[in-house]
Amino acid sequence: MTAPLIRHSALASADPEIAALVSAEERLQADTLRLIPSENYVSAAVLEASGTVLQNKYSEGYAGKRYYEGQQNIDQVETLAVERAKALFRMDHANVQPYSGSPANLAVYLAFLKPGDTVLGMSLPMGGHLTHGWGVSATGSWFRGVQYGVRRDSGRVDLDEVRDLALAERPKVIFCGGTAVPRTIDFAGFAEIAREAGAVLVADVAHIAGLIAGGAHPSPAPYADVVSTTTHKTLRGPRGAMLLSRAEHARAIDRAVFPGLQGGPHNQTTAAIAVALKEAAGAGFSGYAHQVVANAQALGEELAARGFDLVSGGTDNHLLLIDLTGKGVSGKIAAKALDRAGIVVNYNTVPYDTRKPFDPSGIRIGTPALTSRGIPASEMGAVAHWIDLVVDAARTGDEATITKVRAEVKTLMDAYPAPGLPVA
Ligand SMILES: *Cc1c(COP(=O)(O)O)cnc(C)c1O
Repeated sequence: MTAPLIRHSALASADPEIAALVSAEERLQADTLRLIPSENYVSAAVLEASGTVLQNKYSEGYAGKRYYEGQQNIDQVETLAVERAKALFRMDHANVQPYSGSPANLAVYLAFLKPGDTVLGMSLPMGGHLTHGWGVSATGSWFRGVQYGVRRDSGRVDLDEVRDLALAERPKVIFCGGTAVPRTIDFAGFAEIAREAGAVLVADVAHIAGLIAGGAHPSPAPYADVVSTTTHKTLRGPRGAMLLSRAEHARAIDRAVFPGLQGGPHNQTTAAIAVALKEAAGAGFSGYAHQVVANAQALGEELAARGFDLVSGGTDNHLLLIDLTGKGVSGKIAAKALDRAGIVVNYNTVPYDTRKPFDPSGIRIGTPALTSRGIPASEMGAVAHWIDLVVDAARTGDEATITKVRAEVKTLMDAYPAPGLPVA
């Protein structure tokens, strides 16, 4: 047993099994190269705020209009989070109570649609999110989901296709954004289509919120009616979500979140969101956001030079989607081999994938977490080299190479300690 990174003495005596698993997870996050684009490391301050007695308090309602007494502190916490969110994303209104990104999006449906109404979003296998009207989600079974994709030749969204669908299907809501979109989202283009179609435009910026906050991706603020985002991806906050909107939609959004969909907000999360928003407004965050993109672009170039097929040919943001068909190995087999090498990615469909979603052709990788460790672009050649070695080893069954890479990964991780995880 290696020494625990963080002392959880009360937890260790009350529940040694859970304490041991938490310690093991700390060790895993410290020692591995985490390339899942939706993951990150929060700061020690965000971590502390999210584990506070604020979680003991019930606060149904909104600041100044609660259904429970004793809100002297909680109202101030939530107001700080709301004001910081509005200032950072330059939107009229913010609701910081959604439990996570999926409930936030469901609140959007509740605010603007009735069951059976039409929603237009990007299809899941093309890079969209489940909650943009995909069939297995409530959003695609209680509502009529119409889906756009990306062009086969460019790997990019085709706004002419989106316009044709919007004018033919007349959705009440149009979602732009997604979970596997390596290119800049054209908020202005989507806004024009939404205006023509008479639809509410929702920019789901869950993945890129931190890039927007840091000025490394254009802002949806001038264009979107509603901005939906998680707080735990590039924004580097706790697991949670926010809905921002124009003033005219404030009441509909607030009523949809509470009492429409949720009960009491998770106040400890609200506090941690406030801390993360303060960090994201701080001096260093723009540098972080731009470095995330620089690292992703450097990694993309290094991978392309090694014959990897990048969907859309590269990236404008934090994320790379890689089609492994030409490498003779499936996404799942590659992802599992990379995990054995201490490189954590997820397998993912690529546009027009001929394989099944549970064993698709691609992997999706991103640089938010490694950039939080301070790993510079000059290391991306090494990272691409490891990925290349391991994908090849996965094809040939060369476990010795995978073991060797794991040791090299650990050495790099030791040189760049992760935020929130003190070195033992
Ligand atoms: C991650 C994500 C969500 C959902 O977030 P959860 O917190 O996992 O529910 C919604 N939309 C997009 C585009 C996402 O990337």
